[in-house]
Amino acid sequence: MKKIAVLTSGGDAPGMNAAIRAVSRAGIAKGWDVVGVRQGYLGLVNGNFIPLRARDVGGIIQRGGTMLGSARCPEFHKEETRIEALRQLNCEDISGLVVIGGNGSQTGAHALHQMGFPVVGVASTIDNDLAGSDITIGVDTALNIALEALDRLKTTATSHHRGILVEVMGRKCGYLALMAAIAGGAEAVVIPEVPTPPEKLAQQFREAYQRGKMHAVAVVAEGAEYNAEALVKYFKEHKSRIGWDVRATILGHVQRGGIPTAYDRLLGTRLGAGAVDALARNEKGVLVGWLKGRVMTSPLDEIVGVQKSIEPELLELAGILEA
Ligand code: ADP
Repeated sequence: MKKIAVLTSGGDAPGMNAAIRAVSRAGIAKGWDVVGVRQGYLGLVNGNFIPLRARDVGGIIQRGGTMLGSARCPEFHKEETRIEALRQLNCEDISGLVVIGGNGSQTGAHALHQMGFPVVGVASTIDNDLAGSDITIGVDTALNIALEALDRLKTTATSHHRGILVEVMGRKCGYLALMAAIAGGAEAVVIPEVPTPPEKLAQQFREAYQRGKMHAVAVVAEGAEYNAEALVKYFKEHKSRIGWDVRATILGHVQRGGIPTAYDRLLGTRLGAGAVDALARNEKGVLVGWLKGRVMTSPLDEIVGVQKSIEPELLELAGILEA
């Protein structure tokens, strides 16, 4: 009988629980033992394992966050820490590890794979910055939360004829911001991939004012060169020239805490089950992601450290729709 372990690492994402549940139940269906690791790589190093039987993962699919807990573990960059993690896995007689997480977590998974341990990654991050998956677990929920906030902010902005800057997460990736801007009907979007000096945004806002708009909303990615705080400072200094009274709202971790949408529950379920299938096929050192409408695996060698780009057509579309 085979025994596998599953952990969640890095930033939590709604839908991680669905993936844990699927890994557990798909593993059990193959006749394997499944254990969970608490607190990501930190728990791996400390040997913090718990059994994940079918009943242990009941009632979690509808919950955000991760039942296993997550952590950032900077020590995992050191080889000696990873050697200790491998020792813990061997002590428990574990012969495969599923790592549910984002870019950093998959870099850690890759490092374990290079040390010879069978690891399979599951693409899970609200940032959608992982090559090897068109969309990752958590993005849809985070996007819907950002949209709800945008809709509300637009209502009050219209009443007061105000400008609003809404900062969304995404680290160095502008995907969440761009999609929220398109789906939320924003007047402008500021993302790390497109350098946007404050004066460029000010000009867009001034033009919106002149076109008779009742509000001006910009979605700003947290990783942009000028974040919402820096931009609002600039807008206040140049208020008489720009026309709008501008306020900033930083959504921050509110975006992570949501109840997973149907999409994220299904994606988490399919990718989690896909990870078990990959281990059963003896695939190692791969990321299980969603590519071209299917569960697919990509070698971690090829995706780790790769910058995922924004589709230029979407950027163009956002520009057209701002009119
Ligand atoms: P995310 O997976 O959400 O991108 P992080 O970037 O914080 O989150 O990474 C999560 C964890 O992955 C880190 O705390 C660390 O334990 C591990 N990790 C990240 N980069 C590396 C690396 N180069 N080598 C080994 N482990 C890493």
